[in-house]
Amino acid sequence: MLDIRNLHANVGDREILKGLSLSVGAGEVHAIMGPNGAGKSTLAHVLAGREGYEVTQGSVTFLGADLLALAPHERAAAGLFLGFQYPVEIPGVSNLLFLRTALNAQRKLRGEGEISGAEFLKAVKEEAQALGLDMEMLKRGVNVGFSGGEKKRNEAFQLALLKPKFAVLDETDSGLDIDALKVVAAGVNRFRGPDHGVLLITHYQRLLDHVAPTHVHVLVGGRIVESGGPELAHRLEAEGYERHAA
Ligand code: ADP
Ligand code: MG
Repeated sequence: MLDIRNLHANVGDREILKGLSLSVGAGEVHAIMGPNGAGKSTLAHVLAGREGYEVTQGSVTFLGADLLALAPHERAAAGLFLGFQYPVEIPGVSNLLFLRTALNAQRKLRGEGEISGAEFLKAVKEEAQALGLDMEMLKRGVNVGFSGGEKKRNEAFQLALLKPKFAVLDETDSGLDIDALKVVAAGVNRFRGPDHGVLLITHYQRLLDHVAPTHVHVLVGGRIVESGGPELAHRLEAEGYERHAA
C-alpha cells in the first residue's frame, strides 16, 4: 500500500531523513522504533505533507499513486490518516463539526455523497462509547481542555470515524496511563485488517504488547538501520538503541 524509497527530507536547511526505505502491504502493521531525534515524527510529517518539510530525493507511492504530488487534503481523501504526537487544539471549532466536515470533504473528493446526520451520529455514539469519550466533551472545541490521554483517545476516535485505508500513528501511546493505552490499542486493533495498513511510530515497546506488529524497524539518524519481526521490539526494549549509535 505504502512504498517509501530512498527518502531524503530537510527541515530548514538540515537534512533529517537520509535515505529511508520502507514498504507496508495491506494487512500489515509496521512499528517504527528509534531514539529521540531519529526523525520519526519528521517521517510522519513528510507523509502528511506538512509545510516546511522538503523532500529532496526519493519517492513515496501510496496505493499506486505518487503521494508527494498530492496536497495534504488530497492525501487524506486518498485514505491516508495521520495521528499526531502532539494533537493541536482548535478553539471555537466543535470536535464533531470538525470531524463531519472533514469526513464530507473527503467523501466529496472521492465522488461520494455526504454522510447523513443520523448515520454520522450513530457512528459517533458507537465509537465514543468504545473509546470512553463522553459526548459533551466531543461537542467542545477540538482537543480544547482535553488531557494528554483524552487527546490520544480523540485521535483514535477520528481514525474510527474517518475510516481511512492507512493509518500513520505517531507516539499514540505517549502520555497514556495503562487503561487509556488499552482503549487506544483496542481502537487500532479494530482498525487493522486485511484491507488496511498501519505504521505505528513508537518510542516504547509497551504499545506493541497490545497491538502486535507484523514488522518492526529501527530508525536511527534518518534511516532504517535494522528490520525484523516482533522479537526485535523486545530486544530493543532490553538493549536500548546503543548498538545502533551513529
Ligand atoms: P523523533 O520524532 O524521532 O524524536 P523528530 O523527527 O521530531 O525526531 O526530529 C528529528 C530531528 O529534526 C531533531 O534533531 C529535531 O530537532 C529536528 N527537527 C524536527 N522538527 C524540526 C523543526 N520544525 N525545526 C527544526 N528542527 C526540527
Ligand atoms: Mg517524535
